[in-house]
Amino acid sequence: MGCVPAHPAQFHRKQVLKRAELKPGFKLADRGPRRAPFPLELGRQKRASVDPSSTQSAGRLSQIPASLDLPHRRFAAAPRFLASLLRSFTAAVPRSSLLLRSRVSAAAASWSALCSPPPLRVPTMAEPEMTKAEEDPTKLRLFNSMTKEKEIFTPRVEGKVGMYVCGVTPYDFSHIGHARAYVAFDVLYRYLKFLGYEVEYVRNFTDIDDKIIKRANEAGETVESLSGRFINEFLLDMAELQCLSPTHEPRVIEHIEHIIELITKIMENGKGYEMEGDVYFSVDSFPEYLRLSGRKLDNNLAGARVAFDSRKRNPADFALWKSAKEGERFWDSPWGRGRPGWHIECSAMSAHYLGHVFDIHGGGKDLIFPHHENEIAQSRAAYPDSEVKCWMHNGFVNKDDRKMAKSENNFFTIRDILAQYHPMALRFFLMRTHYRSDVNHSDKALMIASDHVYYIYQTLYDCEEMLSVYRKGGISVPVPAEEQKIVDEHHSEFLKYMSDDLKTTDVLDGFMNLLKAINSNLNDLKKLQQKLEQQKKKQQPQKKQQQKQQQEQKRPEDHVKTLFALETELKNKLSILGLMPPLSLEEVLKQLKGKALERAKLTEDQLQNQIEQRNDARRNKQFDMSDRIRKDLAALGIALMDEPTDQQANRQQTPYPQTSSQVQRVHSAVFGRLDGSLDQVRQMQKRLICPYHQHKPSFRSQASAM
Ligand SMILES: [Zn+2]
Repeated sequence: MGCVPAHPAQFHRKQVLKRAELKPGFKLADRGPRRAPFPLELGRQKRASVDPSSTQSAGRLSQIPASLDLPHRRFAAAPRFLASLLRSFTAAVPRSSLLLRSRVSAAAASWSALCSPPPLRVPTMAEPEMTKAEEDPTKLRLFNSMTKEKEIFTPRVEGKVGMYVCGVTPYDFSHIGHARAYVAFDVLYRYLKFLGYEVEYVRNFTDIDDKIIKRANEAGETVESLSGRFINEFLLDMAELQCLSPTHEPRVIEHIEHIIELITKIMENGKGYEMEGDVYFSVDSFPEYLRLSGRKLDNNLAGARVAFDSRKRNPADFALWKSAKEGERFWDSPWGRGRPGWHIECSAMSAHYLGHVFDIHGGGKDLIFPHHENEIAQSRAAYPDSEVKCWMHNGFVNKDDRKMAKSENNFFTIRDILAQYHPMALRFFLMRTHYRSDVNHSDKALMIASDHVYYIYQTLYDCEEMLSVYRKGGISVPVPAEEQKIVDEHHSEFLKYMSDDLKTTDVLDGFMNLLKAINSNLNDLKKLQQKLEQQKKKQQPQKKQQQKQQQEQKRPEDHVKTLFALETELKNKLSILGLMPPLSLEEVLKQLKGKALERAKLTEDQLQNQIEQRNDARRNKQFDMSDRIRKDLAALGIALMDEPTDQQANRQQTPYPQTSSQVQRVHSAVFGRLDGSLDQVRQMQKRLICPYHQHKPSFRSQASAM
């Protein structure tokens, strides 16, 4: 295999330069992190072995200053150059020569195995600043779908962010896939705001489309009236899920003028053509087409929405303007009466609100092709300087590990889910999976999410109740060092995970420590208060030794101060994530409980009756019976949560009386409906006392591996 190069170190500058001359615009030092035309596998292998913690390795080449010794530059450039060379060579071998192609690939693979990581990190005077930024864990990094790697987020204008997210086509109620996308970008929007950025967030409505026209005709109403209705329904869903309103929510029919302007510009630049009142984009006129998806031009028809049209110059050409059919809503244009194609609206509206160059463009990963590819082509064809700094795409929603589809009858609207589960449970459920991974929707996972939010709000409610008497009077003692450490660590972990491409899965797991600390402080404080109360009643003078012991232990004010600090930290972080409900916690707990009862088909009275029977059984030490009642309720999707000391208190007869608040709190099942096998029930009972502490959620996504 004489054609396959031996080792990068053997490359000469001449070869690098020769390659550079072959590709116009190829500049060694200019290749920033957003350009990755080389084979990604090889690129990843190289980057992973160089510095796994690095997120900007692709841009390393551009970071090597020109003044550096030539051998370093050559060495750093070699793997990338070789990869390009191999790719060109493989492409040059005829498709029929399968044997030769496979040998070339095998040689390429063995070469890349031999290729030891080049020493890209060369210390220079100019580099420390970059290194510092890269190593700062709180510096926001976002995964860019264009370069396929996490990059440090640097807005185009300091302190300001322009963000465009593709919106819905309002012809029906929105489904859970929409909730997934808009919750994901709401989390980003909120976090950017928290980081102090002034964010201009644009989310459009595609309010003219084949489906809307069809539905409006069926319903005998105008497209405006039908889309208007479903836009309102969508906004209600978004409000339920606590998604903040974007800065602008433009509708296509308000921007027809801008769309016509953009198509005119594309036509002027010779990148579009007209056929009998239809205008098409010529993909052959745009060499960069399909760079985002990495598809090949000859196989891209599979994902196209439209049927093959023989009038097109290239089957992949897509419509910019469609001539109006009989009875369709139309607008006048230089090409006759018609309406815009699907993709052009986002190019026109993003440029109108954010300019030709803006920071973030988001949407579901199903939009990468053809929608976003076409958007890039149109925008750049009209204005060559058009650019999106970071492309972000969220994963799908599957139902019980199968793709959700109307034809499969496993399709859920947001309304369907909110009829059974609290909106905060749905939001929590969606955030439990990293935004780039696919979410698996199941009743079990939603029940677990309901439990988690119930547990969070119940803990906060108890904390609020306990602290209510202390809120007015100031407490001068500092937060004990140990607890202050928990708060500080939580804060820095939150920043670390959120800044690492919004790792919400880890952030939500991180609440566990705060909740544990709140509950243990609440318990200790209650015990201490009861003890002091008893001593006061008996009016026992404290012995010197007892006094000394108490001085060493925590005082009530230490716990109170700790609880204030923990509560503030928890509420702050929940607010940033959009998980702090607008209603009182008492009200939200009531709602969550109501949803759990509805799912179990039980009334409040029936449940209360069961709880009282169980209390009697526990008082009479009939633990078999009390366990059976608990098991029966669990099978219905209702779990009883006793306070941690409760069971101990009953069985060991400790001096602490069973208070009404200790009796029972109801929340939805920890593990959903059970088949009732004894092992399962026992396992569940063990976890019932404190589900969030002991139960490692099974629906955690593969996000951590990303
Ligand atoms: Zn769009």
